[in-house]
Amino acid sequence: MFGATHIIVGAAIGAFCPNFWLAGLLGLLSHATLDAIPHEDYDFDHPSMPTLVARGAFDFGTGLALAALVFTLSPDKTNIAVGATFGALPDIIDIGFIYGPLHTNIFFTRIHQNIHWFLQNKKWRPNFAVSFSLQVTLIVAALAAWFFFKH
Ligand SMILES: [Zn+2]
Repeated sequence: MFGATHIIVGAAIGAFCPNFWLAGLLGLLSHATLDAIPHEDYDFDHPSMPTLVARGAFDFGTGLALAALVFTLSPDKTNIAVGATFGALPDIIDIGFIYGPLHTNIFFTRIHQNIHWFLQNKKWRPNFAVSFSLQVTLIVAALAAWFFFKH
């Protein structure tokens, strides 16, 4: 899913955790859970590398801006930062190893890629508009849960 979705869901989960160990663990598990939901990512139309980088920058920029808002307005910042970081960690590792300068597909990135539902079952997946709407809904729900229960 989008980096923004992973960052914000991870941050919101962190806000509900009693310690940063649990925030990290549940942040990482949230990444796997979200990636297992049928979805289409923004490389669906096989864009050029500059277009993909621009989309990724907008995605992570939006996620980081929203996470900064949650972080700033919360008293216990550590669990939020750990939840957001571990929520996005598999994608950050992918950027370094698959798309980035390391250019290798390590064991961890293979597991991550195989969690993506559509790589295991290509017969049906929602189109990008449905995926986009789903992820905006997840982001709004995570922000609402944090705002009403932990803010
Ligand atoms: Zn992922």
